[in-house]
Amino acid sequence: MDDKMTTETDLMYQTMGISDAVLQFGKEIERKLKSRFDAIDQRAEYNQLKVLHAMQKNRVSENCFQYVSGYGYNDRGRDTLECVYADTFHTDAALVRPQITCGTHALALALSANLRPGDELLSPVGKPYDTLEEVIGIRPSKGSLAEYGIAYRQTELKENGYFDYPAIESALNERTRLVTIQRSKGYLTRPSYSVKEIGELISFIKARKPDVICMVDNCYGEFVETQEPSDVGADMIVGSLIKNPGGGLAPIGGYIAGRNDLIENCAYRLTSPGLGKEVGASLGVMQSFYQGFFLAPVVVSSALKGAIFAANIYEHLGYRVIPNGTETRHDIIQAVELGTPEGVIAFCKGIQAAAPVDSYVSPEPWAMPGYDSDVIMAAGAFVQGSSIELSADGPMKEPYAVYFQGGLTWPHAKLGILKSLQFMVDNKLVTI
Ligand SMILES: *Cc1c(COP(=O)(O)O)cnc(C)c1O
Repeated sequence: MDDKMTTETDLMYQTMGISDAVLQFGKEIERKLKSRFDAIDQRAEYNQLKVLHAMQKNRVSENCFQYVSGYGYNDRGRDTLECVYADTFHTDAALVRPQITCGTHALALALSANLRPGDELLSPVGKPYDTLEEVIGIRPSKGSLAEYGIAYRQTELKENGYFDYPAIESALNERTRLVTIQRSKGYLTRPSYSVKEIGELISFIKARKPDVICMVDNCYGEFVETQEPSDVGADMIVGSLIKNPGGGLAPIGGYIAGRNDLIENCAYRLTSPGLGKEVGASLGVMQSFYQGFFLAPVVVSSALKGAIFAANIYEHLGYRVIPNGTETRHDIIQAVELGTPEGVIAFCKGIQAAAPVDSYVSPEPWAMPGYDSDVIMAAGAFVQGSSIELSADGPMKEPYAVYFQGGLTWPHAKLGILKSLQFMVDNKLVTI
């Protein structure tokens, strides 16, 4: 930037409540990240071309955005979008629908559609995401897979967070029908896995049981790398449209992409036997689905820059950050162990204060269903609960960590992190 621009931008930061000390500290950190940011931009460039190529190949046109209601027979926008997803992820088929209400629903659908009574489900990566516990019936729940006679087994991860191959080998048996692999660590402390590592795990499993279905929970992972798990042997990948692939514009939805027969099963389960993919009107959301998917590679790159910037800022100040400041990224989540309740609260208040929506609201810790401690959440989002938008939350318990993710644009993610630091400084929780 030229000097005049720098001054104008600095003045805007001042107007937005960022002190010169915080701003200079941030600039110093950002300067050191240039080569990493360049690498992220290069991956975004590749992924942008991948999405565009799929859109052009499938002849996306204005009439794909038309409002379709009722049964939704011949909903060209919906059918074409599913081809765009399938081509982008290099799968036979995809199901991408507003009728899939969230990521948990998409995962529950993929599982219940492809498992039958007597089958066994295996998680070779330890405990799955919290909400999956009730889907599977690890915690007894109405309508769980367990109620339908589907068994579940998991193998624990090794001390270092990676796969225990001998344990996985002995867990596979004649009833094992489907293996579920979660790419992102979610809110656990284990590592998130690279596409390459997932590919190796799938190869190991398929070498021992070729007919087993390998499904990957791809939440928070889309477009972080240039390949997806479907490029390395996954039979199905599953995710939420209010995370990465919705690009911040999709107001609802989930996707499943994979092998033809498996996606067909999902469609018959989502709607009805006999109807499958043929029904399910897109109700006017198609333009946002297309446009969000088009933007997603660059939106994900903004979120990644934010995560790396936050990691380096807080690591420099002596906090433990997961992943650390230099590690390769496999998802968009950043954890920062602030160590005190005051730290978690100040961080989240800063993120909220930087938001485009509800910036004047001050988040407070609160009891939340499904959590065993109070939780504070910062989210000034256009779409309720959207976590591709800049958001943070922290359970009020040891080790007092905040989980931070999203950011539709890098400048917004940067402001959010500087604001969090400003709140920490103003509350005398940290000195810079
Ligand atoms: C978010 C998430 C889910 C569930 O998605 P929802 O849209 O919140 O239901 C499942 N698995 C992982 C790894 C996630 O990050």
